[in-house]
Amino acid sequence: AGQFHARRIRALPPQLVNQIAAGEVVERPASVAKELLENSLDAGAKRITIEVEQGGVKLLRVRDDGGGIPADDLSLAVSSHATSKLQDVADLERVVTLGFRGEALASIASVARLKLKSRASGEEQAWGLEGDGQGGWDGPQPVAHPAGTTVEVRDLFFNTPGRRKFLRTERTEFGHLETVVRRIGLSRDDVEIRLSHNGRPVFNLPAGQDQSVRERRVAALCGQAFMDEALHIEHSGAGLRLNGWVARPSFSRSQPDLQHFFVNGRMVRDRLVAHAIRQAYRDVLYGQRHPAYVLHLTLDPALVDVNAHPQKHEVRFREQRLVHDFLFRTLHEALAETRAGADARPAA
Ligand code: ADP
Ligand code: MG
Repeated sequence: AGQFHARRIRALPPQLVNQIAAGEVVERPASVAKELLENSLDAGAKRITIEVEQGGVKLLRVRDDGGGIPADDLSLAVSSHATSKLQDVADLERVVTLGFRGEALASIASVARLKLKSRASGEEQAWGLEGDGQGGWDGPQPVAHPAGTTVEVRDLFFNTPGRRKFLRTERTEFGHLETVVRRIGLSRDDVEIRLSHNGRPVFNLPAGQDQSVRERRVAALCGQAFMDEALHIEHSGAGLRLNGWVARPSFSRSQPDLQHFFVNGRMVRDRLVAHAIRQAYRDVLYGQRHPAYVLHLTLDPALVDVNAHPQKHEVRFREQRLVHDFLFRTLHEALAETRAGADARPAA
């Protein structure tokens, strides 16, 4: 009596392994949307349609016109730690895709009913695969589908009531999902994106690289008021390129809710970046006001490590000082013009 008995060690069944991984990757419908959209972008899609029902809990369907999945790879696509995006540790040193962990589809399929349909470019036949959310799979079987991929996710957390209970109202969940789509929409203006909720169109973003289309997209996603007060940034140097828009100090915010920063197309929330931007605004923004911006930084993928926490949007720059100074100088100079302009303007 009073003796603690050793318990035998067992390898976890794959379904449970995936559900544990899903705890990291899949918090709510918005996180599913993020994974599916990033997969579409990684597949080179130029058009993406997102259909959502009941905040994404009942249905989330993402269709793209990307490169598709070869029939033989369909089952691997939904297996954990299987990816087409990395082959060796050298690839991990310079990740150029948004995904690379090979866990998302397997995780999602362990906590929802997932259907995958795809026709790989150059192939005549499309193939489909259906998961029951309990580890069982039906297919691959021939289906009708244009070139590209559709992933359908139904009944999120239907088999994990403990997780389901943490979901908020349909409205709140859709709000999170909309934020994800907005960020993706801001990250890539060469991709047409449509979002609908319960059959009603929410976003309809045309693709286009010319300035007027880009500005219309940003206005649609961040508001015309932001665009009206935005300074266009376009500057390169030292192997870095910064482009996008920063708001004049007259359009500051009481919350840091309009701050979008992308590094090589990946959304990033980074202390170094935030610090450089805050410094640039230091003598034009007062008190507790926050700057608003949509900025894209482009640099050699080998100079930034993206293999940090999957959900925290962290990166590590190899040359921190260089990046910080480049951001600070570029923005400080752009804002200097507004200072000069403000001085010249007659007092109101
Ligand atoms: P990762 O994106 O990290 O590789 P995922 O689980 O998200 O892992 O996807 C697994 C694999 O399935 C991808 O590497 C890719 O080959 C394939 N895949 C997933 N979604 C798509 C898509 N929309 N178009 C083409 N291939 C896809
Ligand atoms: Mg992925």
